[in-house]
Amino acid sequence: MEEETKKFPRLRKYGYWIFLVTAILVLVLVAVLSAQKAKGPITQNISIEPETESFVSAEPVRFLSPLSSVDVIKNYSNSALQYSKTLKQWEAHKAIDFLAEEGTDVFAVLDGTITEVSYNYLMGNVVKLDVGKGLVVVYKSLQNDPPVKPGDKVKRGDVIGKVSATAKSEASDGPHLHLETWLNGENVDPNEYLDLTEKESE
Ligand SMILES: [Zn+2]
Repeated sequence: MEEETKKFPRLRKYGYWIFLVTAILVLVLVAVLSAQKAKGPITQNISIEPETESFVSAEPVRFLSPLSSVDVIKNYSNSALQYSKTLKQWEAHKAIDFLAEEGTDVFAVLDGTITEVSYNYLMGNVVKLDVGKGLVVVYKSLQNDPPVKPGDKVKRGDVIGKVSATAKSEASDGPHLHLETWLNGENVDPNEYLDLTEKESE
């Protein structure tokens, strides 16, 4: 009991000073910390990485050559006009024409589904092959009675028709395959998906 009462007066005597010194130390610490904080953002080097080119594009779609031997007689042209001997007029040719003998096998360029087999006077026998990803490949000037029908599932390399000269609008070009590519309903250049350079050298 006696020792307890002795302790308290001492605490009361120095307590004020202990509190004062502690308070000053805390204030100094706070001042130093806030000064460093204020300095921080100004001296710090902020590097912002550009977000472009961060997306890696998906594997490019690659067509099998529609014919085993490639001889392009009329290439794709979106704007440049080419003379049509048959129609005797200049026109854009939004397709590739491949010269081949009558009856030459025409291949599915990718796995897909046949969506149309039809005939019209200007383009002859037409086969449409949906290969997915919004891409439809249209084969024209085929022989009568193609070996496929709408709804057929075909594999890349399957024979979907044979070369002929049934397209009256291109009759003067003789037997050939007229190949179009459509992406989401828009006519696009088949060369985007075909690599004909190696086939042509064969
Ligand atoms: Zn053509």
